[in-house]
Amino acid sequence: MNNSKNGIVILGGGLAGLSAGYVLSKADRKVLVFESNSVVGGLSRTIVKGEFRFDLGGHRFLTKSKRIENFVKDLMGGELLTVHRKSKIYLHNKYFDYPLKPLNAIFGLGIPATIKIILDYGIERLKNLLREPDNISLEDWVVSNFGRTMFNIYFKEYSEKIWGIECSRISSEWVAQRIKGLSLGIAIKNAFLKFSGKGLPTLADNFLYPSSGIGRISDKLKETIDKNNQVLTNTRIEQLNHSDFRIESIEVKYLCRQDDSNSSRNIIPPLVKRGRGDLSIIEGSEFISSIPITTLVTILHPRAPEDVLTAASMLRYRDVVIVAIMLSRERVTDLTWIYIPERKIPFGRIHEPKNWSLKMAPEDKTLIVAEYFCFEGDETWRADDGQLIELTIHYLEKLRFIKRDEVLDSVVIRTLKAYPLLEVGYKEYYNKVWDYLNRFKNLHIVGRAGIFRYLNMDHAIETGIETAEKIIKNSG
Ligand SMILES: Cc1cc2nc3c(=O)[nH]c(=O)nc-3n(C[C@H](O)[C@H](O)[C@H](O)COP(=O)(O)OP(=O)(O)OC[C@H]3O[C@@H](n4cnc5c(N)ncnc54)[C@H](O)[C@@H]3O)c2cc1C
Repeated sequence: MNNSKNGIVILGGGLAGLSAGYVLSKADRKVLVFESNSVVGGLSRTIVKGEFRFDLGGHRFLTKSKRIENFVKDLMGGELLTVHRKSKIYLHNKYFDYPLKPLNAIFGLGIPATIKIILDYGIERLKNLLREPDNISLEDWVVSNFGRTMFNIYFKEYSEKIWGIECSRISSEWVAQRIKGLSLGIAIKNAFLKFSGKGLPTLADNFLYPSSGIGRISDKLKETIDKNNQVLTNTRIEQLNHSDFRIESIEVKYLCRQDDSNSSRNIIPPLVKRGRGDLSIIEGSEFISSIPITTLVTILHPRAPEDVLTAASMLRYRDVVIVAIMLSRERVTDLTWIYIPERKIPFGRIHEPKNWSLKMAPEDKTLIVAEYFCFEGDETWRADDGQLIELTIHYLEKLRFIKRDEVLDSVVIRTLKAYPLLEVGYKEYYNKVWDYLNRFKNLHIVGRAGIFRYLNMDHAIETGIETAEKIIKNSG
């Protein structure tokens, strides 16, 4: 039996873990990737239901890094489409261009509101000249950079919908991390203050997208790893055994039988009976973790110190529920995304996958995917599928996107830990956990939920690649 003793063990088969596995496999390293879901891709996977395909909220690929762009282009070959981005904000029964264009914004909001925004913004700039703003929270940051009116109209409701807490409790660090990506504020500032927007990835007009959905990137990474190594789905890591600040092994629960054609290569160790049920123990020389940092620290054996565990319990993620509604209509919109800031509408964003790639639905049919931001265990999370589908159809009909009798099918997907929640004061807890985990010599942390950082796909991929390269370099 080869129990991969000297191999590299990767926890989590999302883009970060798979990118690390891909680079290591190409460098002829022995690698095992463990993924608890039945498919790879994590947040960036594509769901297939009959003739329809959809992402967990449309995922566009965009990067400032030529290196990461080339990595994805080389991997995907001819599968990548260049898609034109055309998005709208639905607010007060009107549609605004996203990013806002000055004329659209002025006539959409009315001239008095526009004057108020500009005056308000002027006042904040003056205040900033007199004293350096503290900018502890998202609210502080937006008000000092865009003015109170702009904050109230555009920022407050949408941000609170995404995060589920008041903007005064969201750390301004989020803005710093997020500014490289989507920002309603930057879009508006762009419009009103005539920033060019060039060079900001979020304002780019085009993005890359695999013709069969974003999940294809992960599928392709897995295909390469599987040539000489193995990606094991339906395998949940339950424990990391360590001694003297070195991880020695992981204990894995097989959630269902592995494909026999894979195991014939004899890479996977057989099940080992343990007190807590059937677990397999996998030894390794290096361990790369992309699973949530809060999970990682709680499954260490021996246990992490109590103060570290207490700090970890203070870190929270925001979860999402995705509801896809399949329709007997050729097309509903020509839009990429529609942002819906108002609290009275329960979902925060919708997209029509067919506008990303025609392969996402049959020619005469389409689908709309709605994103509900929530916390595990809250009302939305607990609502049964039927209620969520009904709610989605009700509001899509009310907003005049669809008619009830066009609905063919529907799917609900609940996704945990979609967004690390950067609450004011989180850094102290985070540092405590991070500093402790950093003491493990052969543990490398990558990815969005892993590092607890607002990483988009390109940065998640980058963390995986860079970690793999570091391991290759250090092992000669
Ligand atoms: C709604 C939404 C829309 C987004 N849109 C975009 C976009 O347009 N563009 C963009 O660039 N980015 C977008 N992102 C961000 C993008 O999804 C992430 O950056 C990326 O998928 C992170 O990859 P990852 O590998 O770091 O994490 P993940 O995808 O979370 O991968 C971690 C993996 O670990 C697995 N795992 C967890 N615990 C265990 C365990 N105990 N044992 C085994 N496996 C485990 C999980 O199942 C998961 O597959 C979006 C995110 C969301 C939520």
